[in-house]
Amino acid sequence: LASEESRSTATPMMEQFIEIKANNPDSLLFYRMGDFYELFFQDAVEASRALGITLTKRGQHLGQEIPMCGVPVHAADDYLQKLIALGFRVAVCEQVEDPAEAKKRGSKSVVRRDVVRLVTPGTITEDKLLSPSETNYLMALARIRSGSEPAYALAWIDISTGIFRLAETTEGRLLADILRVEPRELILPDTVFHDPELRPVFDVLGRVAVPQPAVLFDSATAEGRIARYYGVKTLDGFGSFSRAELAAASAAISYVEKTQIQERPALGIPERESAASTLFIDPATRANLELVKTLSGAREGTLLKALDRTVTSGGARLLAERLMSPLTDPDRINQRLDSIEVLLDQPSFAMDVRDTLRRAPDMPRALSRLALGRGGPRDLGAIQAGLRAAAAIATLLSGARLSEELAEGHAAIAALPAPLLARLDSMLGEDLPLLKRDGGFLREGASGELDEMRALRDQSRRVIAGLQLQYCEETGIKSLKIKHNNVLGYFIEVTAGNAGAMTDTDAGRARFIHRQTMASAMRFTTTELAELETKIANAADRALAIELEAFEAMTREVVADAETIKAAAQALATLDVSAGLAVLAEEQNYARPVVDLSRMFAIDGGRHPVVEQALRRQAANPFVANGCDLSPPDGPEAGAIWLLTGPNMGGKSTFLRQNALIAIMAQMGSFVPASAAHIGIVDRLFSRVGASDDLARGRSTFMVEMVETAAILNQASDRSLVILDEIGRGTATFDGLSIAWAAVEHLHEVNRCRGLFATHFHELTVLSEKLGRLSNATMRVKEWDGDVIFLHEVGPGAADRSYGIQVARLAGLPASVVARAKDVLAKLEDADRKNPASQLIDDLPLFQVAVRREEVARASGPSKVEEALRALNPDDMTPRDALDALYALKKDL
Ligand code: ADP
Repeated sequence: LASEESRSTATPMMEQFIEIKANNPDSLLFYRMGDFYELFFQDAVEASRALGITLTKRGQHLGQEIPMCGVPVHAADDYLQKLIALGFRVAVCEQVEDPAEAKKRGSKSVVRRDVVRLVTPGTITEDKLLSPSETNYLMALARIRSGSEPAYALAWIDISTGIFRLAETTEGRLLADILRVEPRELILPDTVFHDPELRPVFDVLGRVAVPQPAVLFDSATAEGRIARYYGVKTLDGFGSFSRAELAAASAAISYVEKTQIQERPALGIPERESAASTLFIDPATRANLELVKTLSGAREGTLLKALDRTVTSGGARLLAERLMSPLTDPDRINQRLDSIEVLLDQPSFAMDVRDTLRRAPDMPRALSRLALGRGGPRDLGAIQAGLRAAAAIATLLSGARLSEELAEGHAAIAALPAPLLARLDSMLGEDLPLLKRDGGFLREGASGELDEMRALRDQSRRVIAGLQLQYCEETGIKSLKIKHNNVLGYFIEVTAGNAGAMTDTDAGRARFIHRQTMASAMRFTTTELAELETKIANAADRALAIELEAFEAMTREVVADAETIKAAAQALATLDVSAGLAVLAEEQNYARPVVDLSRMFAIDGGRHPVVEQALRRQAANPFVANGCDLSPPDGPEAGAIWLLTGPNMGGKSTFLRQNALIAIMAQMGSFVPASAAHIGIVDRLFSRVGASDDLARGRSTFMVEMVETAAILNQASDRSLVILDEIGRGTATFDGLSIAWAAVEHLHEVNRCRGLFATHFHELTVLSEKLGRLSNATMRVKEWDGDVIFLHEVGPGAADRSYGIQVARLAGLPASVVARAKDVLAKLEDADRKNPASQLIDDLPLFQVAVRREEVARASGPSKVEEALRALNPDDMTPRDALDALYALKKDL
């Protein structure tokens, strides 16, 4: 496209387009032409398909027609939103000089244009493009190779709110740490992107991962680049950072500069997060537990949705972040729990807080648009309303008993500058327009000169009405009107039939100057009207200039207080989250968990937060609460494991998940769905539940299961919580049983973690005899009239049957199939009794198992003598044969 040849034969405009496009090969180029952004060539083809808009042609290039499509500038946000959602990046190219300037250079000259902004998923700020309750992170990944192990770091920025965080990571945790933040866009050096070792990580991320030239991540110049952005000499005041962190932070900043081009978002100072300060949740677990997204990608049906009672978008975003990154420090967790508790203790205070918060708009996002020069009057209005709500909240907080966290928040809110609110109140009117160029957002009294101009404008309108009356009388034409349009300005209009009457006298001819002839009307003007017109236009121009000036001044004042406003907004979000969790705890009857550094995991009356609410909504049978105790029975170091058996549909998965969710909720600082809970900090949470759909990537279900199980067995520590559902199901019975068996032993002996292990293999339950911290639990069922009734109750012991056929019957399998299956099962069970492989459990030399006598008999099958006896047929035997057989039997005894 950008070859010399194509350039030399193009029109000047196409030449300009081709040059700009060549500098932005990865983006669709929105090329500004009047009231449209136009797209050409391949961009046009792709965009028209993606947006469902018409593809047309414009001129020729190298003998070929040029495909083209366009979107109107005023609706561009909608189209941008669609394209961004589809994973495109867009370069917005504007005219950067007055067309008059271009004309001066010569008739063929095109207006200078330049890309003023790259719109990418991670760097958007417009409300239309953002979801209010979700963060919008741009993340940068850096890798430093020095010594044997490469060092990795992540930096993530939400330019719509200014949040900026940093963390070190490792190759093993990379994907988990990225998914914890859920960035919209991850930039990384192309060398890392193409590293075959890391391929699987970026495969999972798909379009989110965007390779960039490695120089962007240069660590030697990183510190300088960051310091320049913040206008400081050194970063000493920010804390200390590793080389990889600096490289990631500077890459993120450089990318922001590269995409925003002219503007500088007001970023907060980078905050370091240490990996150990958050609960590590591996990617499969995060997906399977459906924390913020269900496996099918929906937001409905997630834990977040079940917990969210916030009333502001800032609160909703903070809640999601807390849920994604539960803590591991009991002190910080307890501070959060204290906040919920003080709010629960003062219900009317909590209610007032929530009512006031409802009126608090999204200050951080308005602030970032103002700082980027993309703000409008409504953004100033949002700051004004936010400051007003904050002031009301500060008063409420002064009169209440506060937790440490809320007291800190109170200080941040009280630090808001009162004069700023007073100033916005004195300047801004009521119904604010979206765009500043529409004017009309300053209130009466905001500016003396503006009031004068407005008076002049209003007065002129009255004068015009007077003129119309006067002209009607003079000409005797009752239907004469003074009208206005953008081309002619003010003009006098009469019907074609009346036109003669206007100019049939000399006086009339001198007075009414003909402007335009329409099919059914004639238009005139007068000197008086023209003068008035100029006066009105001047007044309007001046009025708008005054408003724009005031807008810029207010914007500067707001941006000058950006840090204070952001801190206060964060405090409001914290308050919203705490109050929301208090409401939830009250409404759902949750308990405050005891969280400390022990290895306890004792839950009484636990429930699944999502299923419980769903059952209640459906007015179905209420959720059956179940306790769980994985606390160490012997000494403080090693947790206990429960081996859970029970029929399908008995509630095993629900029980497993609910305990994982309770741990997450406790550590994010929420009350939990239980009557009591004591949880010693969990450092890592692993789970293997349900089949995640990896088939598309060509891995078999069993392979996925084994990869995930391997990760757990390799990584779980004695502080971890491990939840395993049906390990070994994906292969032949004995393979599966053997793997499950060995996995349980490994968890118990090597990982020494707390764990829940649900299995179909009833054979495993004998392991509890050998492994001291392993106990058996089962989902209770009741058999009634050949049917099975699920009680959803967890009790001690092992299930004796699977009830698979009963479940199949409940599912509506034809009666004939059910009957036949019963026969087959009876045969198989019979055969199994004879199968020596089930003896394995007794013969494994590692441990002794006390098995009841009948079980021995069943497990070892009929004896050799019995079998031999059964094989004899006395009727066919000679006396001699019979005697020989008797001797043989005697020998085998
Ligand atoms: P399993 O994993 O044993 O096959 P599930 O956990 O999938 O069983 O649960 C089967 C059904 O039983 C689900 O529809 C679930 O909503 C319901 N259920 C599970 N546990 C409970 C409970 N404690 N109280 C009420 N209903 C439950």
